[in-house]
Order: sequence, then structure tokens, then C-alpha cells
Amino acid sequence: MKPKDYRSELEPVWCSGCGDYGVLKGLTQALSDLEIPNEKLAVISGIGCSSRLPGYTRSYAFNTIHGRALPIASGLKLARPEITVLVVGGDGDGFSIGLGHLPHAIRRDVPITYAVLDNGIYGLTKGQASPTSEVEFKRSRGLAGAEERPLNPVLLVLSSGAGFVARTHAGNLQHLRQTFRSAIEYPGFSFVHVLAGCVTYQKPAYAEEIYRRCDLLPETHDPADFEAAMAAARGERFQLGVLYRKPEGAPSPAAGAEGEARRGVWTPAEDAALADFPGE
Ligand code: SF4
Repeated sequence: MKPKDYRSELEPVWCSGCGDYGVLKGLTQALSDLEIPNEKLAVISGIGCSSRLPGYTRSYAFNTIHGRALPIASGLKLARPEITVLVVGGDGDGFSIGLGHLPHAIRRDVPITYAVLDNGIYGLTKGQASPTSEVEFKRSRGLAGAEERPLNPVLLVLSSGAGFVARTHAGNLQHLRQTFRSAIEYPGFSFVHVLAGCVTYQKPAYAEEIYRRCDLLPETHDPADFEAAMAAARGERFQLGVLYRKPEGAPSPAAGAEGEARRGVWTPAEDAALADFPGE
């Protein structure tokens, strides 16, 4: 099947120049590469400009309620494991109202792919600051929450224990295609941070400016190295590529921060109490 076979008849209503067009293209190319039958594909979203994307795909599609795409997609995948389930949405939908669902989807490791199209703004509701809006931008526009530091999505999902974490840019179609392909093929919860532009409520050159702050991960980067992924996520620049891919059978990396939890086993509360108060 060709990429166009994954497009519905609906014409996108996104603004001309919106980064979401590139994501739709890269995604349909990846689906074509993987030869996923349309009837074995579901694309789920919440609310926002990018959450319109399921309607433009030829698949089972559900534009759900604000911030709730992950639990709905998880339920679908549990009920119909043979279906490839993709979740798409924006930074406001995913990291504000929907954020509470993210670590739980990650620790349940339901095999779905979650792509957040991050343009650092609420587009659909006309330009409010999102959790990833940058401080300087908020100050210059007089937006609420100007002093609040932006959230680092990649660091957040890595530290929550996601087994597959990648970042790409909506303007780099080849990279998008390859990244989506790898994420969809991963046999657990996979997360893709897509840097995208909003030409209407961000600076018009926002996407280009962000791209200038991106680097492809060096060839020496080992996606199995969790500490290297964390270091890349903490850097000043945006690293594009697969930052982390949990080796098959390895325990959740984030659990490593908490002793026994490294093996996914918390000390039972009773034993812990005895250890603290051995005389009792
Ligand atoms: Fe895209 Fe921004 Fe227009 Fe929404 S408002 S469609 S995010 S350019």
C-alpha cells in the first residue's frame, strides 16, 4: 500500500504551513513501509489542532475528549491486541490536562505508540501558553505563567520508565518516517516527541528556529544506554533520534533509581517497618 492509501478523503483544515501536515505525511509513509492493513489500524487523539489528525487517516479513528486519549487507546489495545494503536495529540492535551495518564500508560507498558506534536502553544484555543512554552516567548507575548519553566517531555517519559523514547522534527520528513517506523515496531509503549511549528500563534519562523537548535544523535549513541539517553535529554540542544530503546527482557530503567524497585519489586510495607524498627 502507498502512503496515500492511509489518507482519508477529508482535507485537513490546519493553517497553511502548520507543522502537522509534515507529521501526517511522515506517519502515512511509515505506515506504508510497515504495510499495516487499514482495518488493523486505529488512530486515537484528544482535543487540539493536532488531535484532528485521526480524521485524515484511513483507519479506525477516534477524536476523543481532552487529555483522555491514552486511557481510551489502552482500553482498545487490551480488547483488540491485533490492532496497531497510535495516539497523537498536542503538548497542551498531553502535558497539561492529560499528563496524569502518561506515567500510568508507561508503567502498564501497553504496546501503543504515543506521538506528541509539540509546538509550545495552544493553537486551537488561540494562543495560550502550554506546558512547553518557553519563558522568553511567554514574556514577550505577556502570556500567563511567564515565569514558569517549560516542562521537558523527553526527560519526563524517560524517568517514568518508557521503553522507547525518540524525538524528531516535523520538517524532517525522512527522519519522521524512520522514527515512526521504529516506534510502531517497538513491542511496548513507545513515545515520540515531535517538534512541530504553529505558524499562526507562535513566531512564524518558530519551526526553523527550533530546527537550528537540533542535532541528530551521534552515531556513537547507544540507545540501550539509559544514562546516555538521560544526558541527551538534559542537554541544551534538542537531540533527534532514538534516545532510548530498552533491550529485550531488561527491567524498567526508571525503577533503577529506587533500589529494590530496579527489579520491579518494592519492599513490602510490613518488612520495611520491621527493618526500620527491628526491636518491635
Ligand atoms: Fe497549526 Fe497553529 Fe494553525 Fe493550529 S493554529 S492549525 S497548530 S498553525
